[in-house]
Amino acid sequence: MSLIFSASFFLLWRHQRDRRFIAVLSAAFLAISIGFFLQYFTLISLTFSKLVSNLLLLLGAVGLAAGTFSRFKCRPRLTLVYVAALTGYVAFAWFIFIDPDITTRIYAINFAAGAICLLITAELRRSPRTFHLIDKLLLGLLIVFGLGCFIRPILAVMIEGPYTSYERFHETIYWTTMSVATSLFLLLIALLLVTAIALDLMDQLKRESLTDPLSGLFNRRGLEEGAEKMVRTATLHKMPLTVVICDIDHFKSINDTYGHACGDAVFAAFAHCLRDFIGPHHLCARIGGEEFAILLHGANAALGRLFAESLRTTLSVMSLPCLPDERRLSASFGVAEWTSGEDLYSVLLRADDALYQAKNAGRDRVHVARREGSAQDAPSRSRLEDSAAAKG
Ligand code: GH3
Ligand code: MG
Ligand code: MG
Repeated sequence: MSLIFSASFFLLWRHQRDRRFIAVLSAAFLAISIGFFLQYFTLISLTFSKLVSNLLLLLGAVGLAAGTFSRFKCRPRLTLVYVAALTGYVAFAWFIFIDPDITTRIYAINFAAGAICLLITAELRRSPRTFHLIDKLLLGLLIVFGLGCFIRPILAVMIEGPYTSYERFHETIYWTTMSVATSLFLLLIALLLVTAIALDLMDQLKRESLTDPLSGLFNRRGLEEGAEKMVRTATLHKMPLTVVICDIDHFKSINDTYGHACGDAVFAAFAHCLRDFIGPHHLCARIGGEEFAILLHGANAALGRLFAESLRTTLSVMSLPCLPDERRLSASFGVAEWTSGEDLYSVLLRADDALYQAKNAGRDRVHVARREGSAQDAPSRSRLEDSAAAKG
């Protein structure tokens, strides 16, 4: 069974070579499968087989620990795990060569495996990532199996121990319960890890489908998904919501003068500055070539204007890659406050119209759209209509 898991993780890793922890899991399951194989088939001598087998089983447990740590994006502090594995193994060797005693050897290996499982769970709790159901199941399984490694051998020895020879050892309560518990644990942990890897991959694909690669900001689809949530929250809590549209002024001239690659670098620096300024509580998306939409949670039009003005100042002083030192960028802004019940397209259209007015008024400025339905809010012609007309 472990060999099949090892092969499955190996195949998974071949398709995602950047996730090295999958290769570590494959190696760990391989070590465990050989370790168990040697419990049933003697290699060279019984003592040698036991030494190699238990070494591989402990290495497998350490590999599982290291692999699980990396998945949780937690910098592994494996020192204690190594200490537990080494102590268990030294004790095991001691009770083979110096003071031969099967029962104590059983304790040494089981306690080491249990300590490794419990140490992983203690360490994983430090992980910065949010724990989903799959992560909690993984932790629960490690705790149950870890505690079992202490309780199971003690109970088995109390019932039928101490063990003095390996004769009919595979028929003892200890061996039967250990085989069943370990097989079940390996089966469940492999299934949980495969599921977790698949879920991680789906999360990553979803994130990528909502993100613009050049700016690292949301794309239009990301904006629509995020805006839906923000509109729902704003409706529920009766909070204001304001849209700011920002368009870089005369960006085409940067491409024309310094080349498209330089334009890309300037654009990426601009987007980076925008992202830093906006922070995690608001939403920012690239909605066109060099045009961005920002959704300000809890802000009305007046706050939106203040925000856009200070963003305009910040962007106008930022230094730009691959351009002369004195060269600066400016941007124009259109601001529109969302009105309860209004759809996203309508508020974007009003903000876009305000942006059009800012451009017409000379650029490098902020314009605020009148509230929806107000008498003055009758734009003669919006930029979207203009571009539609231009396309014929
Ligand atoms: P203004 O908005 O002030 O009217 O002038 P503009 O020159 O910025 O006008 P316009 O929106 O017509 O042109 C935008 C230009 O931005 C067109 C395109 O060459 C450039 N652009 C859009 N996206 C990218 C990009 O990802 N990389 C680069 N290098 N250029 C881009
Ligand atoms: Mg522009
Ligand atoms: Mg534009």
